[in-house]
Amino acid sequence: MTFNDLGLSPEVLRAIEDAGYQTPTPIQEEAIPFVLMGRDVLGCAQTGTGKTASFTLPMIEILASGRSRARMARSLIMTPTRELATQIAENFETYGKYHKLSMALLIGGVSFEDQNAKLDRGVDVMIATPGRLLDHFERGRILLTDIKILVIDEADRMMDMGFMPDVEKIVSLLPPIRQTLFFSATMPIEIRRLADKFLMNPKEISITPKTAAAETVKQFLATVENKDYVKRDTLRKLIRSEDIDNAIVFCNRKRDVDTLNRSLQKHGFKAASLHGDMTQPARLETLEAFKNSDTQILVASDVAARGLDLPKVSHVFNFDVPLHAEDYVHRIGRTGRAGREGRALTITTSADKKFLAAVEKFIGKKIEFISIEGVEETDAIIERPQSVRRKKGSTKKTPERKGRATKQKSEKISKETSPLRDSGGPAIEKRPKGNSSKPSSKPQRKPEPIEGDIIGMGSHVPAFMLRSCTDKDE
Ligand code: AMP
Repeated sequence: MTFNDLGLSPEVLRAIEDAGYQTPTPIQEEAIPFVLMGRDVLGCAQTGTGKTASFTLPMIEILASGRSRARMARSLIMTPTRELATQIAENFETYGKYHKLSMALLIGGVSFEDQNAKLDRGVDVMIATPGRLLDHFERGRILLTDIKILVIDEADRMMDMGFMPDVEKIVSLLPPIRQTLFFSATMPIEIRRLADKFLMNPKEISITPKTAAAETVKQFLATVENKDYVKRDTLRKLIRSEDIDNAIVFCNRKRDVDTLNRSLQKHGFKAASLHGDMTQPARLETLEAFKNSDTQILVASDVAARGLDLPKVSHVFNFDVPLHAEDYVHRIGRTGRAGREGRALTITTSADKKFLAAVEKFIGKKIEFISIEGVEETDAIIERPQSVRRKKGSTKKTPERKGRATKQKSEKISKETSPLRDSGGPAIEKRPKGNSSKPSSKPQRKPEPIEGDIIGMGSHVPAFMLRSCTDKDE
């Protein structure tokens, strides 16, 4: 498919050609015709898929007819951050260069006066962060009753940053008859509920990020005990054993970002944290320090790192296995430089079985183990996610025997296969075949219940639990 097939005008096509784009990306192919038809769109796509052009290009077409009135914008794009708002504004300038559309960028850090002057003249496109938009509204500087198109971009990130109450308030001030385009990189249940509330019969588009990035990145797993201090210790050992230029360490929870950062700093690493609760200037300052190599390790949450112009890094460490498999691909895609392969190392515990299995399914391959010098073998090798529960009466190895067996195997494999041995790095262990059926090396660990088992009932299930809820009492 070419851009000519999408129903765009010659002016927009010329601007696309000037931008040097040859073919539309999948989300552009799918979304543009529906936006031009006036349909609502629910897009599950992240930065890098070309999603911005998927809504800016058709919006330029739609807004080309009609005129704005003073203080009444005709379209509104809400984004979580200033950077994203600025990028969208740049997109409008690039693709709208042969149109005369007016635009206002309502973000913090820019004087209200300049923004007011623009709004007073009337704008076709208003690009705003929710807080600044509400400020303008509450000061009586804008009317939202003429909004025909609403775009909510990076909805999951807005939620993570605590903007959703503001977003809901703003949406309640808009005319109910409008076109709404809603984008989110992930679609957890809370986001889905909001989408159902804001959209009418939307065209749903889901773009799976390419897993190709994963091919250029060497990926490893370090399996340890599910204790934060063990994970932190493992991370330090991993960092020390790798030849690092700079690295991003991803955590699943915001609160862990600061804790881990403090711990790394305490152990002498040049680390800094990046998460959604930080003020804009603090985030920019942190990024600048990372880009200048004043900071070597950036500890970040997914949402804070998404959409930011981070330099390519030599290493990505996943302090936790991400809860959404696609985030894994996004995280490891931060590594890899010209002439040098990226390395992504993920710390995993028995608690991550389900998520690790989802990641491996998503990338379509198993991730290799890495054994870490200084981490006890008993900690380093535990059950694989696919492990089967040991049957009653099966012969148990004693902890000593088991430790010895594991160690011997690990040494053998690392001598034979480790590409890092020569450079003094850690032994890289190939996933031992059939490892999944081995008993856990943690002798005290209770076998985890297999999904579907009824716990604590023995083989007897009381009759009342087996009765269907529609059965009537006799
Ligand atoms: P986005 O996902 O909107 O952040 O876009 C990611 C990058 O892809 C931006 O730098 C765009 O300029 C670029 N881009 C968008 N559409 C295309 C296209 N059809 N062909 C090539 N590059 C594109």
